[in-house]
Amino acid sequence: MSNLPSEPEFEQALSEIEGTLTPFLEKNPEYAKCFKVIQIPERIIQFRVTWEDDKGQVQVNRGYRVQFNSALGPYKGGLRFHPSVNLSILKFLGFEQIFKNALTGQPIGGGKGGSDFDPKGKSDNEIKKFCYAFMIELSRHIGDLTDVPAGDIGVGGREVGYMFGAYKKYRNEFAGVLTGKGINWGGSYIRPEATGYGVVYFTESMLRDLDNTDYQGKRVLISGSGNVAQFAALKVIELGGTVLSLSDSTGTLIANDAGFTPEDVQFIADIKLKRQALTAFSEGKSNFTWHAGKRPWTLVEKADVALPCATQNEVNKEEAEALIKAGVRYVAEGSNMGSENSAIEVFEATRAEAKNLSDAGVCWYAPGKAANLGGVAVSALEMAQNSSREKWTFEVLDQKLKDIMADCYNACYATGKEYSKNGSTLPSLQAGANVAGFKMVADAMK
Ligand code: GLU
Repeated sequence: MSNLPSEPEFEQALSEIEGTLTPFLEKNPEYAKCFKVIQIPERIIQFRVTWEDDKGQVQVNRGYRVQFNSALGPYKGGLRFHPSVNLSILKFLGFEQIFKNALTGQPIGGGKGGSDFDPKGKSDNEIKKFCYAFMIELSRHIGDLTDVPAGDIGVGGREVGYMFGAYKKYRNEFAGVLTGKGINWGGSYIRPEATGYGVVYFTESMLRDLDNTDYQGKRVLISGSGNVAQFAALKVIELGGTVLSLSDSTGTLIANDAGFTPEDVQFIADIKLKRQALTAFSEGKSNFTWHAGKRPWTLVEKADVALPCATQNEVNKEEAEALIKAGVRYVAEGSNMGSENSAIEVFEATRAEAKNLSDAGVCWYAPGKAANLGGVAVSALEMAQNSSREKWTFEVLDQKLKDIMADCYNACYATGKEYSKNGSTLPSLQAGANVAGFKMVADAMK
């Protein structure tokens, strides 16, 4: 499988794809070689990053860029700054990115990068120093026609800004080499909102198409409280749904039946910007409860929609069962590989006995590579605007994002019907995303 003694996250992502591709590969054996080739990154760059902290001490971190696949366009994918970052995690993220980016319908290949640098507790000056040092090396390997990074966990607008400034300085080039830039220096409208809004647009298609309904009155569980969770929550509230939870790595906030208001979400965004823990929000508020060390999935008795928007492997088998018990009918991942494979099996098994879309007990599961592609899709639109020196309006971009999410849902549904798992006659959106994404890339590779 992989070439290191152990790459658990990458092997998990590989086996998830392999499981759903098998029926397709049996029917189309000419794609088997492509599946072997696609598992190996075209190139991996690893480097040392030395930088000076506020006490004048030299610090050292590891930097990486996995240039996984460029069949459809320049490598494209975020940079993650988190102490957990290693090659297994970046290979899983880069691998997922290949298929996700194909499903956007935009001309972008797949890549991912980052560092084990921990932005938590660092001063603004230290973040800047690190970003500049990281870019000294990375700038040799990227370019607007080669590889275009963006943000991910630990990398937001501020970090993209420092890295863009560094690139411009080292290369003397104002190029669309990073996306997620500020609006007045080459960025695109709706890029900050795109991943969160996109997850909600994707689930709107699920609600409408599978059950002829919408977000009005739906009870929604969201995990995370960063960029993706915040904008998903705001869009759910705008569409008439009730957001019952938000969380961080230390615990979960559960709201009473009225849910979070847009003002609550803004308050939480401010807390996050100050890099404070979520507990700072619930202090003195009677309509919220704080559950230390818990994720949202087992804390509410009745819900309709679950949107994991925090990080990988944030839903396990028992939590998947708890969601189904609570009546959750739609699960869509704002995070990458949000569910463990055993949790996906629990969701997917609910279709096995069902005959009609409207049958009770079915829990529709949309994997991150489809449901959360809004972010990278708008990144591709940022690249298009940079190349043509244009600036499209918020309204134009919002409509494009809606169309991309609807097209992706339709592709997952159509292909998922053809390659449904578990002998079910109902479509598997998981299989649909994997087969449709793989086929697009494989055809280009051939
Ligand atoms: N990190 C985001 C993702 O997982 C966005 C990547 C990008 O915009 O290039 O898709």
